[in-house]
Amino acid sequence: MLSGPSGVGKGSVVKVLRGRHPDVWLSVSVTTRPPRPGETEGVEYFFVDQAEFDRMVAAGELLEHDAHMGASYGTPRLPVEERLDAGTPVLLEIDLHGARQVRAQMPDAQLVFLAPPTFDELARRLTGRGTEDAATIRSRLDRARIEMAAEDEFDVVVVNDDLEAAADRLVALMGVSPS
Ligand code: 5GP
Repeated sequence: MLSGPSGVGKGSVVKVLRGRHPDVWLSVSVTTRPPRPGETEGVEYFFVDQAEFDRMVAAGELLEHDAHMGASYGTPRLPVEERLDAGTPVLLEIDLHGARQVRAQMPDAQLVFLAPPTFDELARRLTGRGTEDAATIRSRLDRARIEMAAEDEFDVVVVNDDLEAAADRLVALMGVSPS
């Protein structure tokens, strides 16, 4: 499981990793937030309304779920279990609360924390993304501070100083043979 504060580059590292290792399966979460420009249904997320999300929670269809910035996010359980049963390497890109919930259910899962080189660098990346207003960025930074304080709960910390190197380290940790 790969976690880490918003804006640290989880998505970019995962993209590099999957480009080199299409055999690694990445869980696609469900969310109630609207798609951002360029996002495609079933690729970044499955976009659902709150009623459908609540139904999935009630039916036990989510391995974990959490709310951020007024939207709900969760990991569909069945696809993860099917891949694990088939022996496929599974990667969950998930926030701290989600990681804790999955760990409780899957004690053998490895938790990797992707950390920014420095907090200032993270603030720069979040501001530079240009997709959110100032209040949203402030709220993400507050959350990032809390998430970074939880680093010790993780099995491994990978510093995202270089995308390719971080992806290589993640691949090595997953036990996938290098490309
Ligand atoms: P974004 O809206 O920027 O794509 O994601 C916002 C936050 O939701 C990020 O911190 C991201 O890691 C988290 N997130 C994305 N998918 C899931 C999920 O399935 N479960 C949980 N708990 N958090 C998620």
